[in-house]
Amino acid sequence: MTTVLPKYVAVIGAGAAGLVAAHELRREGHEVVVFERGNKVGGTWVYNPTTESDPLGIDPARTVVHSSLYASLRTNLPREAMGFREYPFVAKNGAHRDPRRFPGHGEVLEYLNDYTTEFGLGELVRFGAEVRRVGLEGGKWKVRSTACGEPLDEVYDAVVVCNGHHTEPRIAEIPGNILIYALRHGQDFKSTATITVFLSHFEIKDIAGVAKEVHIASRSVTDGTMGKLPGHDNMWLHSMIESAHGDGTVVFRDGSAICADVILHCTGYKYHFAFLDVNDSVTVDDNRVGPLYKQVFPPLLAPLLSFVGLPWKVVPFPLCELQSKWIAGVLSGRVSLPSSDEMMADVEAFYRTLDASGIPKHYTHNIGDSQFEYNDWLATECGCPPSEEWRKQMYSETSKNRKVRPETYRDEWDDELLVAQAHEDFANCSS
Ligand code: FAD
Repeated sequence: MTTVLPKYVAVIGAGAAGLVAAHELRREGHEVVVFERGNKVGGTWVYNPTTESDPLGIDPARTVVHSSLYASLRTNLPREAMGFREYPFVAKNGAHRDPRRFPGHGEVLEYLNDYTTEFGLGELVRFGAEVRRVGLEGGKWKVRSTACGEPLDEVYDAVVVCNGHHTEPRIAEIPGNILIYALRHGQDFKSTATITVFLSHFEIKDIAGVAKEVHIASRSVTDGTMGKLPGHDNMWLHSMIESAHGDGTVVFRDGSAICADVILHCTGYKYHFAFLDVNDSVTVDDNRVGPLYKQVFPPLLAPLLSFVGLPWKVVPFPLCELQSKWIAGVLSGRVSLPSSDEMMADVEAFYRTLDASGIPKHYTHNIGDSQFEYNDWLATECGCPPSEEWRKQMYSETSKNRKVRPETYRDEWDDELLVAQAHEDFANCSS
């Protein structure tokens, strides 16, 4: 018979990761408080039409706008694959509901609200409570938070960090540029010529529809692919930017130049844990959060400090669900961890594999190619079934479809059979 030892756990953030962590921790018998600096659950999916006053994110005292969603955003994953394993993301009827397979962002927020209601998670969340400091004192975690400007110090057995990683901008260093970072509408670009540096989430076609010219600078561009983009009258592909000047001149590495009104950085975000005071037991170095055993536990502080949702290029909700189950089980003693030396050796071996494959440090948490292997490892640790075959195949089919039909993959697909298999599974899940 397993001895379950409940812990008093602070979860930082009430986005998808914090919600599923809270659910899994409570299910395992732990007592949970979720700190949320905003006034709603949903994190990234709480759309905010305002943009930050300091688009470079340099001023630490700036007012932070957490979500980087733009108005027209639709999911880039089909809802069947995107949802939690134990709470399928199925279409629902209702005035505010979006039944599409790749719905708009509002539908994802509705789904997370449904999840919160279904499992009664709202009562665990302290809204308007920002965590300012997390430090170890006498073997316990002292958590300092502020609500309405009032500081509050409390003691917890364990802390689970779920603060998201799409808020702190990672900016390309270009001397003397003019730029806009946070965008909400493609219309923000009316009649301007635009430069973009590396493509990531933003739908460039939204901008191209209204801007005069769009010039895309990309690291991956080879000589043969430069020039006007096929099918677009006002989009050009270039090599990386060499320099930008006050008069708007932008010079590319191949020596060509154009005149731009705006430089848009699509260079991603940085992991950021300003509240962590743990004497370098875990640090962020060139966007590597480490050392972390299997992307979750810092060996020196395991299992009482953990991180949910760091991996990227993945299907985040089910991955966070499995990480949360693992943390909950480890904290109660139902699931065991290796010794801290063994965990450290595992991390070092992982870093050596990355080095040997020429993968840069800032790709440490890009586990896209091995995400299902990773999920299945977590599932085995937790004693639950591996990822559904249909989910793996659907992810792969969607990736292929996105390449073949970049403009229309959200509305045209060929994986109906997988959709049917998913729904069969969902029916079994609810029966
Ligand atoms: P977040 O959603 O960022 O939540 C973190 C929470 O922590 C926030 O509520 C924040 O207020 C709170 N917080 C932060 N710091 C503190 C603090 N100090 N104290 C208290 N609270 C704090 N995923 C998909 O599955 N499908 C998609 O189509 C998809 N599209 C995306 C498009 C964009 C533009 C972006 C940015 C992301 C997209 N994602 C998508 C990934 C998305 O990030 C995840 O789906 C998921 O929302 C991550 O949840 P999270 O809880 O880790 O972080």
